[in-house]
Amino acid sequence: MVPVTHNGEPIALPTSPFNKFGYALQFDSNGRSGNLQVDFDSMAAHLDVMDRVAREHGLRIDLVVFAPDLQERLFESDPGSTLQSRLRFNVNPSWVRHDDHYHVDFAMVDD
Ligand SMILES: [Zn+2]
Repeated sequence: MVPVTHNGEPIALPTSPFNKFGYALQFDSNGRSGNLQVDFDSMAAHLDVMDRVAREHGLRIDLVVFAPDLQERLFESDPGSTLQSRLRFNVNPSWVRHDDHYHVDFAMVDD
């Protein structure tokens, strides 16, 4: 799930059967859903550290699946400024909107 803030403070994404455990949340093109805001800085830091640790273990991030309309906000975040050139992101939207969660595919690094 995406990291979120509420009134600027990081919180766990509220999940329950009533919002399909978070999958029914809808974030707009600014990453807002009611009082929740996607924490793009934290998400970028998460991807950054996963990429670095993966390389230490002979892996690399092969693909990140995240709503294309939100990717620019991610790249604009301070830790996200290099992600666009370092990692491959999906270009087209998936069959379900990936605004409340993202996927990371890993691959073995070829020697
Ligand atoms: Zn998904």
